[in-house]
Amino acid sequence: MTVKAKKFLGQHFLNDESIAKQIADTLSLKGYKQVLEIGPGMGVLTKYIIKKPVITHVIEIDPESVEYLQANFLNLATRIIKKDVLKYDFSEAFGSESFAVIGNFPYNISTQIVFKTLENRHQIPEFSGMFQKEVAQRICEKEGSKVYGILSVLVQAFYETEYLFTVPPSVFIPPPKVESGVLRLTRKIDYSLPCDEKLFFKVVKSAFQQRRKTLRNSLKTYNLSDNLKANTIFDKRPEQLSVKAFIELTTAIETDH
Ligand code: SAH
Repeated sequence: MTVKAKKFLGQHFLNDESIAKQIADTLSLKGYKQVLEIGPGMGVLTKYIIKKPVITHVIEIDPESVEYLQANFLNLATRIIKKDVLKYDFSEAFGSESFAVIGNFPYNISTQIVFKTLENRHQIPEFSGMFQKEVAQRICEKEGSKVYGILSVLVQAFYETEYLFTVPPSVFIPPPKVESGVLRLTRKIDYSLPCDEKLFFKVVKSAFQQRRKTLRNSLKTYNLSDNLKANTIFDKRPEQLSVKAFIELTTAIETDH
């Protein structure tokens, strides 16, 4: 891989053993026997994850890192997957079994990793690791907050969120421009929604795409009845709606007309 191509891999290697251990310790070990680490790099986290009573798989796109892992983590052997996580079909490694996801994630694709996790939520009871701090906060914030958005609502519909701790740029090589945040998502016991799930995703996205508008304006294209639009919920802006309110809104739209 050329130096230029590498620039896009979001490589900021963690250079602090105690933080690496703390991140590995976010695994609760409840509800799964296997773990997938995304973007192991030179294995600083992997070292601590493989000490746990779980079967560890890692997925890494950078050939140099993969070579290093193959030479230094002989026990991982066939469980080192040399692929782009965004293009990877999880059933290749896991079939239909459950697994936890962990990592010091490549920040440039962190949102896409979260969306991929949501798509595969039936198999992923737990998700933890490090993001750019702002993204970690956004995922965990509740309604009313300035950073509450699509990611917050969609994640919190299915997972309990915990923002665990902040990590300064100085513990990475090279240091990123921003602070980092470690979080844990724990899938809710009942994670099926009492409304059409596809419509829920669509409504949340439409509402936040025009975040400053009231729902009456941002949901115009849904051709809602005057009767429904008279409901005061449509006077609100998306950041004022809890996850529960978004579910109720979706149900109301579903049964309109
Ligand atoms: N976990 C290591 C490295 C973190 S940097 C540490 O803490 O030191 C992010 C890692 O993700 C890099 O190793 C990078 O090569 C890898 N990566 C970037 N994009 C990826 C992708 N699409 N699929 C899999 N790995 C990716």
